[in-house]
Amino acid sequence: MKTENLPKTFLQAVRGWGVVDSIQSLYAHDVLPHFLLLTGSRGIGKRLIADELLQRMFCESGVAAAPCKQCNACRALDKGIHPNVRVLDSETDTGIISVAQARELRSWAYRSSDGMRIALIPNGKNLTAGAVNALLKVLEEPPKHFRIMVLAEHPQSIPKTLYSRAVHFSLGLPPEFVSKRFIPAMHSVHPLIQELYV
Ligand SMILES: [Zn+2]
Repeated sequence: MKTENLPKTFLQAVRGWGVVDSIQSLYAHDVLPHFLLLTGSRGIGKRLIADELLQRMFCESGVAAAPCKQCNACRALDKGIHPNVRVLDSETDTGIISVAQARELRSWAYRSSDGMRIALIPNGKNLTAGAVNALLKVLEEPPKHFRIMVLAEHPQSIPKTLYSRAVHFSLGLPPEFVSKRFIPAMHSVHPLIQELYV
C-alpha cells in the first residue's frame, strides 16, 4: 500500500473496518436498531469507536464522515454532558451495573425527548441479572427514539436473552500495517495489540 493511502489516525484505520460507517449509515437512513452490541478484544478501541459514533450522530454539522468537534453537541459529548446520551458505567464500589441503575435508565428512556436518546453501556459483562431483566423490558417495547449500545469483549459476555435481541457488530484486529503504524501511540491504551505484533 502506498504511504499516502495509509490511515493517519487510529480512527481512520477503524473506518477502514467499516463498522463505524455501517452503523452511521443505519442511523442516517433512520433504521438504527434499538439494541446494538459491539464486541472486540480488550484494548482494541471499542469505547473510542462508540464515542466517535455518538459524535457523528449528534454533531450539529449533520451526519458527516467526521464530527466537527466544535459545535455544542460535540463539546457536550466530549464533556459527557449531552442531554440525549447516558453512559451506564459500573458502580465504582461494586464493579457491577445494578438493577437500580438499569431501572433509572429505563425511566429516562420513557421520558419524552427531543430527538434520539442513546444509552451507552461500556462494560456489558458487568450487568447483573436484574439489570438485564430491566433492559429486556425496555427492549420488548422500546420507545421510538431510544437506543442502547452495549460494548463487550465477546458475545458470550452478556446473557443469551439479551444477545438474542442485539444487532451484533464485531471488531476484528486491525491489519498488521495499521498496528505497526500506531504502536507508539497505542502503547498505553492498546497493550493487547502491541503484545500481538511487536
Ligand atoms: Zn459537531
